[in-house]
Amino acid sequence: MNLDALKEINTNNPEILEQSARDNNANESTVTGIALFAANNGYDSLTPPQKYHFDNCIRPLIEDVQCSGYNHECEEVPRECPATLDDQDLVEYYQNDGKYCESCEGQASSDAHSKESFMRD
Ligand SMILES: [Zn+2]
Repeated sequence: MNLDALKEINTNNPEILEQSARDNNANESTVTGIALFAANNGYDSLTPPQKYHFDNCIRPLIEDVQCSGYNHECEEVPRECPATLDDQDLVEYYQNDGKYCESCEGQASSDAHSKESFMRD
């Protein structure tokens, strides 16, 4: 769980929290309120009902987040990547609207490289 990522969400992507609240049939302003409080005071200072909402709506956003999945531009069917991102990558994930795991990152940069040399030739 990465509370810095939660701060990033609170500041720049609050709609992700609202969406997650709707997906879980929870009240949007309750969930965004808990997110703000937890980011500043930590998970342990939440009450049990708040923890319940946190675990349902917020924790999946800042823990074991799935890789965005890299797709070669020529591939028509998007591939799902089952890898999860490291907690320390999550701030970047929310700053950049997504992030690849190490293996997808490697694929992306090698494709970028071969495209570059192709354009040169
Ligand atoms: Zn991946």
